[in-house]
Amino acid sequence: MSLCFLNSVEFIYFETLTTNSKNMFRFILSSFFFFPLLIFSQINVPQEYFKKPMDIPLVLSGTFGELRSNHFHAGIDIKTNQEIGLPVKASAEGYISRIKIQRFGYGRALYIQHPNGYQSVYAHLSKFNEEIEAFVKQKQYEEESYEIELFPEENQFQVKQGEIIALSGNSGSSGGPHLHFEIRDSSSRPMNPFLFGFEEIEDTRKPRIGSLWAYTFGNESQVGGIQGRQRIQLFQTQGGDYKTNPIKAKGKIGFGLSTDDQLNLAINRNGVYKIESFLNGAKHFELAYNLFSFAETRYLNSAIDYGYFKEHKKKIQKLFIPENNPLSVYTFNNKRGVLEILTNDFSFNYEIKIYDFAGNTRRIQIPIEYSELPITQVLPKEETPYFAYAQQATVFEDKNIDVYIPKGALYEDTYLKIEFSKNAVNLHDYRTPLHKNIQLGFDLPSYSDLSQAYIANVMPWGTKFYVNTKQKSNRLTATTKTFGKFELAFDRTPPTINPLNFRNKKWMSNYNTLEVEIDDKETGIQDYRATVNGNFLLMEYDYKTKQLTHYFEEGVFKDGKNDFKLIVTDKVGNTTIFEAEIYRKN
Ligand SMILES: [Zn+2]
Repeated sequence: MSLCFLNSVEFIYFETLTTNSKNMFRFILSSFFFFPLLIFSQINVPQEYFKKPMDIPLVLSGTFGELRSNHFHAGIDIKTNQEIGLPVKASAEGYISRIKIQRFGYGRALYIQHPNGYQSVYAHLSKFNEEIEAFVKQKQYEEESYEIELFPEENQFQVKQGEIIALSGNSGSSGGPHLHFEIRDSSSRPMNPFLFGFEEIEDTRKPRIGSLWAYTFGNESQVGGIQGRQRIQLFQTQGGDYKTNPIKAKGKIGFGLSTDDQLNLAINRNGVYKIESFLNGAKHFELAYNLFSFAETRYLNSAIDYGYFKEHKKKIQKLFIPENNPLSVYTFNNKRGVLEILTNDFSFNYEIKIYDFAGNTRRIQIPIEYSELPITQVLPKEETPYFAYAQQATVFEDKNIDVYIPKGALYEDTYLKIEFSKNAVNLHDYRTPLHKNIQLGFDLPSYSDLSQAYIANVMPWGTKFYVNTKQKSNRLTATTKTFGKFELAFDRTPPTINPLNFRNKKWMSNYNTLEVEIDDKETGIQDYRATVNGNFLLMEYDYKTKQLTHYFEEGVFKDGKNDFKLIVTDKVGNTTIFEAEIYRKN
């Protein structure tokens, strides 16, 4: 669910950063560079239509297309100097077409529909402007819910370019104060905001190369006598580019790369814009982060080396198109980016070129020689009784447990390693990605008390995570998008409720807020409901601080004694009720 955590990819440095790069981050330059005009073959978008949504200099902690957990980043993240509450402005004229408040994800978010068909999105906000905030509060009280989604009419909240629509924040799945800003096309596909030319971001640094990897495909292929993935050593050449020693190879091979980019004013490691490869000077492959659809964003997991990422927390982008991957970021390919080293008759010069949006580039030269080296390291191939096709649904069952793998859940046909035992199943390997939910079914004996039962994903070190579980008489079903160990578990511990700024019978006339901490150790908070004198009380919930906050200015508390009640439920239905008398003179 972490849609917008600030990126912190670990990196192996091949160049030392200039010592003043950190200091530069502190300076606001008086003059900005404007990106050179790049020519985009199929991307035709209005220029100068959108203005930056904040008055502060655009210092970014995230760029478009950046590789995040299970998704590509759909916008840019504008740093707000570790502060919340800075004005957020309409990027262009239009009307507020959607207002959404959710615990996770974008938190408090606004969507503006523009007359030219584009939509702009502003997320992790702390507050909406007065007019919108009043409308939202009214709806929250009507629906008796903090989480809400509204679609105002076209004439309700018309906005002009530059009009303040909200204050920036850190709401939802945000790892620090910032504004997440998106531009979507008329098909709701997020587009690279840089394409619209509104930006004024200084970037004179070249993309950085972390590491280079070779891959082989099929039984006949090898690189240096080795099958599978292997790291290729890089040597820096004059001008900051790289080369490798001549690579001896045979058959179908491909390459992968870990790379990132830094803008001049930010210390964050951002994503690169485009990667191209060339074979003997002819373009062979290209991926570019111009746009994608939300329906395809999870294909990230096959576009990177997922197994390597799970083991080492570093992302390698494949410079070839994996099986069953329809991502629209692949903007050009010959032979899906795969190289066929089949003959001694010619030489192979492979080149990779990495671009940031400002047009800074870094190159890697890779000479490849055909070689009949004996294969010394074979790709391990284990056949198990549990074979699953990528493009076909499969069911496996044993003892009291069944596993349903729908069509399209796996990227490749795979022999799965499955160990069934009573009330637990070891399901394949956490390093294999899943594109869709698979379903686990546990049939349980009728005598057990199943009221607090759930299916847990058990980590190798023993930590249990709640898996979305449904119960129907003696059958539990759970859906998950990760392989691993799953077992029957029970959560017998109810949530905790801890008042933060009051106690029973307290006078709170001088307070602006009522604050409560809620927590649940095992399965997590499913729901909470606060009332005062029997009426619904709106409390904002921030899962990161575990805090519920009510603003007294909403006028729900009456003069004198008030009966406050809070009911919190965890994911298996354990409930805790807290009650207090709160006194107030408004
Ligand atoms: Zn973001």
